Amino acid sequence: MAKEKNPTISEEWRKGADLLRSAEVEEANANSELLLLHVLGIGKAELLRDLREPFPEGKRELWERALERKAAGEPAQYIIGEQFFYGRPFRVTPDVLIPRPETELLAEAVLAQAAGWSEAEGGGPLIVLDVGTGSGALAVTLAAERQDWGVLASDLSPAALGVARGNASLNGVEERITFFEGDLLAPFQCSAERPEGIAVDILVSNPPYIRSSDMPGLQREVRDYEPHLALDGGEDGLDPYRRMAAQLGKLPRLPRLVAWEMGAGQADDAAKLLRAVADWREIRYVKDYAGIDRHVIAVGD
Ligand code: GLN
Repeated sequence: MAKEKNPTISEEWRKGADLLRSAEVEEANANSELLLLHVLGIGKAELLRDLREPFPEGKRELWERALERKAAGEPAQYIIGEQFFYGRPFRVTPDVLIPRPETELLAEAVLAQAAGWSEAEGGGPLIVLDVGTGSGALAVTLAAERQDWGVLASDLSPAALGVARGNASLNGVEERITFFEGDLLAPFQCSAERPEGIAVDILVSNPPYIRSSDMPGLQREVRDYEPHLALDGGEDGLDPYRRMAAQLGKLPRLPRLVAWEMGAGQADDAAKLLRAVADWREIRYVKDYAGIDRHVIAVGD
């Protein structure tokens, strides 16, 4: 009897897609392709070239394990361990939120608003702070895009800070970012420990903003796998904004620019919190790809 031929790469791709589809995974075909590229360690062009080649049996265990995880609902980015943000690679683990494309618009808004800014009040480099840095997506992007800025990043989670540090070195900006473990703006406030505080010119943050009561209704990929610390914003989802607004008054001076990401329907509330702490020259909203007011930008003098 003729020996059964090994399945081709193309057959495995299709089998993967069928398996994911039957597990009700969205975009089954794209996910099968993504995992296959990762397992084989090749790019799309090589995949298309090698479709009729036999699937390398040495990779089978890895391939089946990756499909199993995806079929159970795990985000592909955690399986692969990587997500691109603003054109750069970021390692992601379940300790950090997977950076989202709409957050790239927040980085872009900051870069556009501050395009002509190079010096802090009274001279010296401009200091930008990323609060709740998670994977480090915003801090690393801003450090890489603006070599003349000083960058600070904070997070409550030591595990997230470890991931963010790794991403800073992956992108060659580890020397340019100072990391702080702490709650929102706490490490920068004037306190008994640090009476002079740490002055910040630009404050950027994508804090948790999901209402606690909405957490159970999130997509399973998010709810069952991403860190709740990065998602749950308390009863009305606005806790982190309320607390940051209160902390703003205890910084050595008000930032010239505050840029926050928010959830749907939260823009007016977030703007109100900012108006209560300072007179801003301008407060505006930036819409995401779905047309939702996703970011609030407050510019001072
Ligand atoms: N700053 C990170 C990001 O934008 C993490 C945000 C978060 O964990 N809430 O992806």
